Amino acid sequence: MNLQQLVRKNVWNMKPYSSARNEFKGEASVFLDANENPLNDKYNRYPDPLQWALKEKIANVKGTVPEKMFLGNGSDEPIDFVIRIFCEPRIDNIVAIDPTYGMYQVCANVNDVEYRKVLLDENFDLDAQRLLDKTDNNTKLIYLCSPNNPTGNLLNREEIKKVLDTFQGIVVIDEAYIDFASETSWINELDKYPNLIVFQTFSKAWGLAAVRLGMAFASIEIIGLFNKIKYPYNVNILTQEYVSAELDKLEMRKEWVRELLKGRDFLKQELSNLPFVEKIYPTDANFILVKVTDANGLYKQLADKGVIVRNRNSISLCAGCLRVTVGTEEENKTLLKVLNTFGIKDEKTSIIYRP
Ligand SMILES: *Cc1c(COP(=O)(O)O)cnc(C)c1O
Repeated sequence: MNLQQLVRKNVWNMKPYSSARNEFKGEASVFLDANENPLNDKYNRYPDPLQWALKEKIANVKGTVPEKMFLGNGSDEPIDFVIRIFCEPRIDNIVAIDPTYGMYQVCANVNDVEYRKVLLDENFDLDAQRLLDKTDNNTKLIYLCSPNNPTGNLLNREEIKKVLDTFQGIVVIDEAYIDFASETSWINELDKYPNLIVFQTFSKAWGLAAVRLGMAFASIEIIGLFNKIKYPYNVNILTQEYVSAELDKLEMRKEWVRELLKGRDFLKQELSNLPFVEKIYPTDANFILVKVTDANGLYKQLADKGVIVRNRNSISLCAGCLRVTVGTEEENKTLLKVLNTFGIKDEKTSIIYRP
């Protein structure tokens, strides 16, 4: 792989913005270089543009080094950045699995980059060859998501390997749900695959969706490109400090995951007893994709009772499916209580719901 050939010329040749905090690093007692107001305390100074202290802590948890990590405003930021770094609008293209997380296509559209979808198989699994067949000389990126959203399953590891070994461009693996999965992260394979970028997030297992912190892991060279195009102070100090403190709760996070996995087993068991549930798909995430006899009807009935799930009925390969997040023990029981008030299905049409 030749990185320079993959990167957009303007990005490769540009100079990044040089901030005051970039130009002077080190100890000093008087800072008159950034036009800050010195009269307020605590949050009056610009934060560390590269968040080194926080990255150091995350690196310890993830078993990597800060130089191979980019932090962004949620995963949304690196999802957009890989396109802006590698894809020339109206010329280059992206190949992605279908169904998958909707943000990849949204960002491709915003950047005016062609987005090619390759259907997963009937088990929502990946066929590397079919994916590779969709690529051409202008395919710069392949987007994978494992465990995948909205399907919940891990993609076959051998097929992913085949993609990484064969494709001459960049392969992104979004691991937003990896903490709930039975397999280990692709972060461990970064040294083997210079074309790999792994996304993770604090929004799911860490329970920090509101603070907006996403991670991208890749080679030092690729991370350098992220840092080149990012807003100078893209992660604010409140987020940096808050997540830094949350990282000390590693044991708590593990306990949460254990509890949510127990809740997932409980929900799978109970849902399988319902007459209008046709199929429960295997899941390695904190949600369950469920096929029911009348997804739109059931969605509405649930919403009327104040229980909101995600209706995935109109998504590729997901006709009739609802996506249910694992909640607290009490929330799970409320969902089941409401579902149990619904009746038996009509033979031909849909469900007859008991009032
Ligand atoms: C929830 C989710 C994310 C998280 O996005 P953030 O911007 O980090 O909150 C990323 N990818 C997938 C596939 C998701 O389902």
